[in-house]
Amino acid sequence: MKHLDISEALTDQTLRGQTAVVCGWVRTYRESAQVAFLELSDGSSLPRLQVVVDKSKLDVSAECTKLGAALAVRGTLVGAYKGEGNELNAERITLIGACPAEYPIQKKRTTLDFLRTIPHLRLRTNTFQAVFRVRSVAAQAIHRYFHAHGYYYVNTPLITASDCEGAGEMFRVTTRPWDAKAASAEEYYKNDFFGVKAGLSVSGQLEGEVAAMALGKIYTFGPSFRAENSNTTRHLAEFWHIEPEIAFAELPDVIEIAEDLLKYLINAVLEECPEELKFFDSFVEKGLIEKLTHVAGSDFAVCTYTDAIGILEKENARFQFPVHWGSDLQSEHEKYLTEKVFGRPVFVTDYPKEIKSFYMKQNADGKTVAATDLLVPGIGEIIGGSEREADYGKLVAAMDARKMDKSAYKQYLDLRIFGSVPHGGFGLGFERFVMYVTGMENIRDVTLFPRSVKNIM
Ligand code: ATP
Ligand code: MN
Repeated sequence: MKHLDISEALTDQTLRGQTAVVCGWVRTYRESAQVAFLELSDGSSLPRLQVVVDKSKLDVSAECTKLGAALAVRGTLVGAYKGEGNELNAERITLIGACPAEYPIQKKRTTLDFLRTIPHLRLRTNTFQAVFRVRSVAAQAIHRYFHAHGYYYVNTPLITASDCEGAGEMFRVTTRPWDAKAASAEEYYKNDFFGVKAGLSVSGQLEGEVAAMALGKIYTFGPSFRAENSNTTRHLAEFWHIEPEIAFAELPDVIEIAEDLLKYLINAVLEECPEELKFFDSFVEKGLIEKLTHVAGSDFAVCTYTDAIGILEKENARFQFPVHWGSDLQSEHEKYLTEKVFGRPVFVTDYPKEIKSFYMKQNADGKTVAATDLLVPGIGEIIGGSEREADYGKLVAAMDARKMDKSAYKQYLDLRIFGSVPHGGFGLGFERFVMYVTGMENIRDVTLFPRSVKNIM
């Protein structure tokens, strides 16, 4: 259909006085004795186009005034009575799709809880329009950043036979119904599609390392799957994962890249989504723009796990789970560190080896590994990364200590035999990033159809 995007109709002042056709859905309707006002949205911009109807010249059918109705409007663009943009003086209004009164998105601000029950319609609200525009801009910026810095974009398999130990429970991939007669699990899987137990990948890292050992700098940007039983506001069963992997890099390089990437992404959203951020700043998180501007312009903190525990132990009375050296940091500790102690994003480094994965580089102290988590206010962990263990013997020892089946990791071990080099990388949860830059507090509200325990609407 020949028509003009509302984003253009609204902002292009050179179009004033010209005839235009716009298409969109009715978002508001009000009228006085002489004039009727319709606001139309077509998704192209958060601000909506006001359509003005002179009732003495044009009849508007009741169907065209219903919220959610889809219309095509032909008219003349003029400078808006209020504000800088344009509005449209209607000459002809055509109903494209009627919308009955049961339409669940009504004018009163509906709650996010309610909107979660109608994932197929919630995108028609300002909040979700803004979220998904920010999400799209951020995704483009991620590719732009890595491309500009010489990284190759690789696609790692989603179906895998290894479970990237330590990263969470795997979903199983099978074509077989359950067979209670199978003598053993092994026999059962032997008859399955791949002949071995297979699942959905929790991370592309292990394959990402394969690519980095040849291409130097790579990143993946795709879905990861975790059968998280946690039901929190920060976990999904299916989330999007950005995982750069860099050869000839040590932990400080990994930290530098993570900080640079995050600042680049924040700046991209600040520049490209001003209307959306204004909206979030007003209705979702007061002070959001100032927070992001400040974060993009100042250094992130860095703190070892050991120092972090020293700080947290003094505050143990306030925590549900008191900490000591060796404990895993819970969300309450992560938030306390980044919100109360540092007041900005903080990289926690050098965790005890027992609470981290087998592939992380073992430090000289024999107790810690060269890992880092980036914690940000409001969310907690947004990035998890590390330098990888490049030494064959040490890697084997870490796998043995965890009683892992080394035969399943032959290829991964080969990388430590054939020209092994220091390398590292990290995983950034895309939805957690979108939460951070929008202020949205529930991860289910920044993805189209959230999947979590007992929820696959
Ligand atoms: P957490 O401790 O928050 O459960 P994790 O340590 O299991 O996360 P990593 O394995 O380090 O997570 O994954 C890298 C990043 O991927 C995390 O920092 C986070 O941003 C994101 N992430 C991990 N699990 C999930 C999930 N279930 N849903 C959404 N994002 C996730
Ligand atoms: Mn982590």
